Amino acid sequence: MSFIETDVQKDLRASVARLGERYSYTSYTLPRARAGEPLTELWNEAGKLGFLGVSLPEEYGGGGAGIYELALVEEELSARGAGLMMMVVSPAICGTILARYGTGEQRRRWLPGLADGSKIMAFGITEPDAGSNSHQITTTGRRDGDTWVVTGRKVFITGVDRADAVLIVARTEDHRTGKLKPALFIVPTGAENFVAQPMEMDIAEPEHQFTLFLDDVRLPAGALVGQQDAALAQLFAGLNPERILGAAMAVGMGRYALAQAVKYASTRRVWKTPVGAHQGIAHPLAQTRIELELARLMMQKAAALYDSGDDTGAAEAANMAKYAAAEASIRALEQAIQTHGGSGLTAELGLSTMLAMARIIRIAPVSREMILNFVAEHTLGLPKSY
Ligand SMILES: Cc1cc2nc3c(=O)[nH]c(=O)nc-3n(C[C@H](O)[C@H](O)[C@H](O)COP(=O)(O)OP(=O)(O)OC[C@H]3O[C@@H](n4cnc5c(N)ncnc54)[C@H](O)[C@@H]3O)c2cc1C
Repeated sequence: MSFIETDVQKDLRASVARLGERYSYTSYTLPRARAGEPLTELWNEAGKLGFLGVSLPEEYGGGGAGIYELALVEEELSARGAGLMMMVVSPAICGTILARYGTGEQRRRWLPGLADGSKIMAFGITEPDAGSNSHQITTTGRRDGDTWVVTGRKVFITGVDRADAVLIVARTEDHRTGKLKPALFIVPTGAENFVAQPMEMDIAEPEHQFTLFLDDVRLPAGALVGQQDAALAQLFAGLNPERILGAAMAVGMGRYALAQAVKYASTRRVWKTPVGAHQGIAHPLAQTRIELELARLMMQKAAALYDSGDDTGAAEAANMAKYAAAEASIRALEQAIQTHGGSGLTAELGLSTMLAMARIIRIAPVSREMILNFVAEHTLGLPKSY
């Protein structure tokens, strides 16, 4: 792994940054978030420019690069305040799983659209009675002749109103042992008996979360992703990119906050020097810079491990990166607000709105506490409490 980006990666970073500048936070993303409207123009343009599909296979219209490059795209957009939540879900989780494990028919049908953004796939694992404990999920797929019949409930599923389908994590019965094991189903949002109800969230965001009711949703045999016996591996193939992209969004938002704070601290004078000359302001900003850089390095390590095919090594690094990035971005936004004094809480800057977005990443896709559990158990070998 090199710490030096190739010319292609540098060019990609610069091109994404240019796009992000045109859809800047205060003029585009913030008003959209407050209105609860999606960032459709940005999404479409990012799709046309090949940014959304940069990590998907070239034969299906993608860029043939890796999760490193997809994270780079998300980081640079977020650093302009124009991060795309659905990138974490549609190309990163669903696109990766389908590219690695989907049948030929599933790849042909979905990947070109996921790559150029013309198709969107949401992802549903969380259930009302099985939040952090995904072993507890009860959504089941039952075989009925040539079809699958899926029944269950999901909560907090992002972007279902814009999605063509949801990749649903369910369970099927093992014929030999009778035990339930995970399985992934592509469920079209237009399927009969599939109902999506918007959740009322206290966050201003362009995307919405939904409760899903699946009551005997009948799907063709081809709705089951890949191999019924390999669903756990398939799931992990998507969850590592999810954590890496979550980290990228957080690092980007932290960079945005820090840039705003530094700009203000360099010019705002209430004594004879700019406020940034006072160590009470300068040191927390310097600390923020260090923490963001450390989180970013861990994110890049996770992406490099993932792209090298080391799913196990990537799992630890991706968890650590998501943890570090969420914490660093929350502190960066907190400090940016403090640096601006009263202006930090004005509607014009929208920093509190972004803080709430950064706050999401401390909880989803996996909470801070569950990452600490993972590291305590898997990295440190400590006994489990649950
Ligand atoms: C804005 C937003 C978007 C989301 N989008 C999606 C999506 O698109 N698809 C999807 O499937 N899900 C989505 N989620 C759900 C998200 O992944 C879950 O909220 C998250 O995994 C936590 O689950 P929970 O909310 O049920 O919390 P719970 O599991 O009920 O946990 C509650 C608290 O207890 C802590 N806790 C739980 N178990 C332990 C333990 N063993 N040790 C220590 N602490 C513990 C948790 O860390 C948390 O602080 C989204 C959530 C939000 C807020």
